[in-house]
Parts: sequence; structure tokens; C-alpha cells
Amino acid sequence: MEIKVAKYAGFCFGVDKAVKTSFELDYDGNIYTLGELIHNRDVIEQLKNKGIRAINNLDELKEGDCVIIRAHGIGKKVYDDLNTLNVKILDATCPYVKRIHEIVKKEYEAGNRIIIVGDGKHPEVIGINGWCEGKALIINDEKEAEQLPYFEQKAAVVAQTTFNRTKYEDICEVLKKKFAFILKFDTICNATVQRQSEAEKLSREVDVMIVIGGRNSSNTQKLYEICKKNCPETYLVENADELPLIDKNARTVGITAGASTPESVIKEVIFHMEGMMNGHEGEINFSEALEMTLTDLKANEIVKGKIIGYNNNDIFVDLGYKADGIIPMEEFLDDPDFDPEKDLKPGDEIEAMVVKINDGEGNVLLSKKKVDSIRGFELVQEAFKNKTPIDVIIKEIVKGGAVADYKGIRVFIPASQISDRFVKDLEPFKGKKVKVVITEMANKRRVVGSCRAIIEAEKEAKSEAFWNDVEIGKEYTGTVKSITNFGVFVDLGGVDGLIHVSELSWKKIDDPSSIMKVGDVVKVRVIGFDKEKQKVSLSYRKMEDNPWYNIEEKYPVGSVVTGTVLRMVPFGVFVELEEGVEGLVHISQISNVRIGRPEEVLKIGQKVEMKVVDINPDLKKISLSIKEVNPIDPQKPEEPASEEPGEEIPTEHSEEMKTTIGDLIKDIQE
Ligand code: SF4
Repeated sequence: MEIKVAKYAGFCFGVDKAVKTSFELDYDGNIYTLGELIHNRDVIEQLKNKGIRAINNLDELKEGDCVIIRAHGIGKKVYDDLNTLNVKILDATCPYVKRIHEIVKKEYEAGNRIIIVGDGKHPEVIGINGWCEGKALIINDEKEAEQLPYFEQKAAVVAQTTFNRTKYEDICEVLKKKFAFILKFDTICNATVQRQSEAEKLSREVDVMIVIGGRNSSNTQKLYEICKKNCPETYLVENADELPLIDKNARTVGITAGASTPESVIKEVIFHMEGMMNGHEGEINFSEALEMTLTDLKANEIVKGKIIGYNNNDIFVDLGYKADGIIPMEEFLDDPDFDPEKDLKPGDEIEAMVVKINDGEGNVLLSKKKVDSIRGFELVQEAFKNKTPIDVIIKEIVKGGAVADYKGIRVFIPASQISDRFVKDLEPFKGKKVKVVITEMANKRRVVGSCRAIIEAEKEAKSEAFWNDVEIGKEYTGTVKSITNFGVFVDLGGVDGLIHVSELSWKKIDDPSSIMKVGDVVKVRVIGFDKEKQKVSLSYRKMEDNPWYNIEEKYPVGSVVTGTVLRMVPFGVFVELEEGVEGLVHISQISNVRIGRPEEVLKIGQKVEMKVVDINPDLKKISLSIKEVNPIDPQKPEEPASEEPGEEIPTEHSEEMKTTIGDLIKDIQE
């Protein structure tokens, strides 16, 4: 009898990582998981024995407790709430789910509508929705998509990792008609798809099929249904104790397992089956089959091979031996820039270290990380010697700084060296790729790096380039750094400049923050600088917004204009033609008769019509004359100028204006 075990049986990568993280945890205090870690009674029991209990409510936590986030992930608010509670967080969110969180956050912040295709009640979908403030549209089938109205908006679409790919494509086709533009992300994880299609194939080939997994696990149930359709002798068992008696005439037995089934349970089932096949051991030879004779390889040897392909859990490598090598995918996922399509091209050569000649399933277990670590140390030594910057990934925040990884080498970055400014909370740096120079290197365990040294050097180089280049009138794009009552400081890249409040607008501004806010990217013009004092004066005002720009074309000499009396002086009145443009009507230009003071005939706020007599744009001076349009009679109250456009106002040049001032005085005297 032959036993065939499905390649994709058991834990998927995400669940495996979460379980390992929990069992390896060494914490002196209460440990909880937010919801059950996996749907497997044995594992939950083992976790309980280790003192790890599942909770569903944050109220059960107190300061100092440790919380494990399961592979499904959680929303941003839950992270915030946990941080407020001051508990230790052990984040075992599957990296594939985390990637969705990042997409949703970025697209939501960019103002796009978020659509999640999946089951709205599933914890993974609830968690994803928590990265766009719970505002996502959740669609589970084409019908729901059809019911949406049309949106004049851009939508970013993501799918629950276990969603059916064909169904996702169909829903996206409908969504294309419902939004002005859609941005579709491929977020479906292949682990479930592969497991199901492999079980489907295997169950067609065997006489008996065993599905191992929890009865409350939906993916195990689904596997059972698929297998049962093809193989009537299909059994669902939770562990070896539940194995049925197998017909001795059966020639082949297939085994698959749900995503929450630990490897130990699968092995135990296989072991029991071997025992049950009393007298058939020689024929089963399952364990022996696993022990492939790969005598040419040695553990800890560095080998080169060619990439054959990959799935969610492993990368398959052709070593030119009887068995292929596998590298756990987990080893690559710490790098935020890792892209399997680009970095794992079939046929590409890859270097790795042999960890186990036989990983239990007949493959050679390899590690790329171990080779990277050896090569990494050589590179770090070189970088230290030559003071060349290297890219590291910040893995954890510890007391006094951050611990980063460079190809397996631990690099400590003191808190004071993470930026050129004081950083109170280092948490946001976690998971980020940063550039460091190695400032200290005693041995492999004591490597110290500094981002600050690089930032300062870059700033200095930029500052030097700026001062070599700067000139009056030159335009720069900068970022608003701070705002004060007297103006705004703008980071021009290595140099800060000041926009005085008077240079923010052509109008009078009392509060600079009414014009811009910190973080705004603004275009500014240099209006002055002092290289010695390292000071730059900037202007945000645009020439074309200047009310005096093209003033001669707006108010040509000889034209008749309307304005408002602003203020009086003994020698005349200042009249506002528009905001920021004032002209002077000399006292001699108000009336045809002599008047003592302008107040005798005019009032502040009064609208008057005037002729433009002279204009000097350089000195910002406009001379106006009321008397040349409608001279004011001191004996008669002045009629306000009409504001109605098009209405005719009699002027001294019009036909109706038949009387002179002399005639008027005569009339009054008579
Ligand atoms: S099914 Fe895929 S996405 Fe979900 S936990 Fe497993 S590996 Fe991660």
C-alpha cells in the first residue's frame, strides 16, 4: 500500500509563523491572543498549558500583559487602543495580510474609495477595514457590486486573501462600470487555492482519502467536501485517535490537512497508519521514502542552485541532485522591497546553505539567510572600513534605540542616531528600510550604525549646493517647517528660508496659518539672502496677483473710474480703486470752486467718479480728478456715484451738462 501526502497539507505560511511565534515566546507575565490563534483544539490546549489564553475583549487586559495578534491581523484603532493600554504587542499578522493593510492605508490617505472584496464578518476583512477608518465598501458577490450606484471617484480594490480568484475577477469587471477609475490589487493568497486543487487531484487518484483538521475549521470542511465528491472513502479526522479502519485491499491512501493542522498531527496520523498496516510495512515504506539518499550533500555546506519556482511557503531550487532544495519563503519576507516576481525568476541562480539533507518530506532544507549572514558580515566590515552607507531594515525597538538587520547581521542604532532631530517615539520606524553608516564594530554581535550621520552629510551637501546656486528671484519648492506670528519657515532642502508675513500675500495677513500649514509643499521666490549669516528671505507672493501688475492697462490715463473715499488729508483725499490700489485726488481736483478742506464736500466711504490724470507704477502713485468728471458743488450735496454698470452719469462733457459752476452759483443766488 502506498500513502500519498499532499504537498500543501497543513499550516499555511501565515498560520505557521503565528503558531511558532506564540510557542517560542518567553514572557514573564500574562499572555493572551486576540481571538483564537487557530482552529485546532490540540494547539489551543497546548497554548493554554503554556499560559496563553484567547480573549475577545480588550477590557480583559491590564498594563504589562502581552497580546499576540493572530495571522488575520487587526485594524489601526485596535493597535492604538493596545498602545494606550500599555501592553506588549507581539504581532503575528501574516505578511500577506499586512501588505493589504499598507495598500488600504496608502490609498485611503490618497483620497481613494476603498473596496474590500470578501466576507464582511471575517476577522481578516474587519481588520483590513480598520485601516480606512471602517469606511470601505465590502462586496461579497457580483450581485452586491451590481447594486452600487455610479461613483465619480477613483476606487482601490483589494480582496480577502482566501477569496476565490475567478469570483474576484468577475466582481472587478462589474466595479469597473461603477467607478470613474478602479485600481485593482492582487491580494489573493495562493495557499488555499493550491491546497484545494491539490486535494481535488489527489482524491481522484486514491482509494481512501484522509482529511485531517478541526471540524470547526471552514477550510478543512471545504477540503473534506471536495475530496468526498471524488473519493467516497473520505474520512475527516482531527487526530490519529479518530482514524478509521482502512480496507486492507486499498492500494493507495491520500492524506491532506487544513491550514490549521499542525505538522505533528499529520505525522502522528501517518505513523498510526503505518502501524495499522500490519504486515504491510515493507510496502508502505513511507518513512524510508522520506530518507532519500543524498550522500553528496553535507549540512552547513554552501551550495548554488537554480530557482525552479515558488509558492506561498517555499522556494524550490534545483541543486542538480536527486531531490530539490527548498528555502522557506519566510526568509525573504522581512525585506519590504521583496517582490517574488522580480526576485525569484525561474532559472536565476541562488546561493544557500544546506540546513538538513532531508526535511522529512524528501527535500533538502536550505537557508538563504545563513549565507546572507556570512556574506553580510563581510559586507558590513567593508562598509565600516570604507564608511559606505548600507540599507538596513529596522526589526525592533528596544530600550535606547532600534535594532536593524543587514543580511542577517544585527545593527544597533542608538535613539539619538536615528534622525538629525529628537525622536520621542521610535515605533513608527519599525519595519522601515533606512540608510546607515557603521560607526562602531567590535565583533559580529556589536555593530552600531547611524542614520543621523548620513542625514547630516546629505543636508550639508545640499546646503553647499544651495549656497553656490542661490540668486535673487530664483524659485524653489520647499516644505513648510514651522509657522510663527511673523512668518513661515520653509525647508528648501538643507537650508531653511523665511517668508515674512508681509510676503505671504498682497493683502494684509494677520495670521500666517490662514495661508499655509506645516507640511505644505510650496513654491517660493528668493528675495534676499545672506550667505555669511546663512539667512534666506523668501516671498510667496506671485507677480500676477500683484494689484499694481499691469496697472497702466487697467486704469489708462484719461479713463473714468469709480472708487471709494478711504481717508482725508489737508491736501486731498485718498480713494481706493480696488483692494491694494489707492489714488490721490488733490484738493484742487475736487471742485471748480475753492474749498477749504475735503471734508466739506466728501465723506469717508463715499463712492466717487474720477478721471485718471497721471499714473506712476514704480512709485505706486495714481493722480485722480473728480472735477474733470463731475465737479462737486460745495453748496449742493454731492450725489453718490451710481454703482449700476451701464447707467449714464452726466459729466461735464455730456450734452445734459449745460451749466457751469458759475451758472449754478448764479442760479442759487437768484
Ligand atoms: S492563507 Fe495566506 S494570507 Fe492567510 S494566513 Fe495563510 S499564508 Fe497568510
